[in-house]
Amino acid sequence: MTLVPDPPHPDLHKIPSVERLLQHLAHHHPAWGDMTSGESRAQLRDLVRQVLDQFRQKLLTSPVSETGLSSQEITHYVEREVVKLFEQHQLPSLRPVINATGVILHTNLGRAPLATEAIQAATQIANGYSNLEYNLESGKRGKRHVHCEALLNQILGCESAVVVNNCAASVLLTLDTFCQGGEVIISRGELIEIGGGFRIPDVMRKSGALLREVGTTNRTRISDYEQAITPQTRMILRVHPSNFRLIGFAQSPELEELTALAKRHGLICFEDLGSGALVDLAPYGVSEPMAGVSLSAGVDLVTFSGDKLLGGPQAGIIAGKNDLLDQIRSNPLMRALRVDKLTYSALEATLRLYADGTALQKIPILKALSLTQKQLSQRVRRWIRKFNRIQRNSSVSCEIRWMDGVSLVGGGSAPQVHLPTTLVALRQATCSSTELDTRLRQSSPPIIGRVENDWVLLDLRTVLPHQENALLEGLIRALKH
Ligand SMILES: *Cc1c(COP(=O)(O)O)cnc(C)c1O
Repeated sequence: MTLVPDPPHPDLHKIPSVERLLQHLAHHHPAWGDMTSGESRAQLRDLVRQVLDQFRQKLLTSPVSETGLSSQEITHYVEREVVKLFEQHQLPSLRPVINATGVILHTNLGRAPLATEAIQAATQIANGYSNLEYNLESGKRGKRHVHCEALLNQILGCESAVVVNNCAASVLLTLDTFCQGGEVIISRGELIEIGGGFRIPDVMRKSGALLREVGTTNRTRISDYEQAITPQTRMILRVHPSNFRLIGFAQSPELEELTALAKRHGLICFEDLGSGALVDLAPYGVSEPMAGVSLSAGVDLVTFSGDKLLGGPQAGIIAGKNDLLDQIRSNPLMRALRVDKLTYSALEATLRLYADGTALQKIPILKALSLTQKQLSQRVRRWIRKFNRIQRNSSVSCEIRWMDGVSLVGGGSAPQVHLPTTLVALRQATCSSTELDTRLRQSSPPIIGRVENDWVLLDLRTVLPHQENALLEGLIRALKH
């Protein structure tokens, strides 16, 4: 028996050449700029080749009888695929999204959006040279850590402070500076994992500190700490449990008891606060510990994040006693963990809002936190009216209503706080809510909501005022699809 090769697919010869397609694209997409030479043409040619190869492969594996496309139809199909790929390639990897989840400090969505003042400060510094490490009085080399220090000292009421890459870095640096080969006492109830793999015991091990666990998971007394002190003990560490809470039969010593014990034995008392509120958020139902309060209770060093409840750029802040901060600043690791000029400028501008007393009015996450359900429900109704006006004039049909719900603080803080909110709820007869949710996520800019009981839910608490129209347009586009 001889094998007779299949005849080639009759549509193969209708596939346009790379050159013809490139000419066609240059003619039909003038907005793509000069595609006739250089790098961009080479890139485009690669995309065209890729699409043509795929199409050829498709024809080769489909039965010869499935034919009938005209050359023009093939050209159009290939063109559409190239345009899709080209547009995907033009998009940056890191892009803005609309956070309609209602989680204010969403770690996966970049935590805190910056205040206008912080954005302007960073833009100005990015736009040219700066005195990052230059003393303008002496005309000599200066130190970068001076830039936020005076403001931090003023706001926290501390002797000294330093800024590093994030809170994890500030914990690592502090333990590394004082505890290498020495012992650190910590309650078993505070040996936590915060998320993203940040485990306190692991960080301690990396710093060379020896962990001395005391108490039980739910109860630790001051006597447990006292009995664990040996000549090798360097520090008493308290860690704020972040997104984890012990409720019921639980006990831990007051901060004042810990600081007094540390003082009696010549030990450092260090508290990792994590979320680090700088103003009292209790009026909004959020009672996170404030750095200033810990410092006045006699804690020698505190650490917290710049992009959690502070509402600034990603950073970690170490604040406390001057002699201890001097040792931290001269640790060689400081060079590896320091921040850049953009972080300093955005953080300084954010801190200035606290010093001026305007933080609650100007910092986006604090504004989002302080929105009442009444304000949110007015905003939602206004937004739905606007949506309905547009919907009436377009071809989309969709069921839309408002419903009560809760927003979350997020960012590993205040896990038990449920902020009452009003949600926009959507569903479409022609597609499932998971499908609609996916379409919203893939629109531009991506809209991130959630699905619950067959509804797509959007929480406007975390949608910034300047994004409301983009949300409306993106939604209409996704519904039309
Ligand atoms: C969030 C958190 C950290 C880590 O902060 P990053 O800024 O994300 O590095 C460390 N400790 C505590 C208690 C936290 O809540």
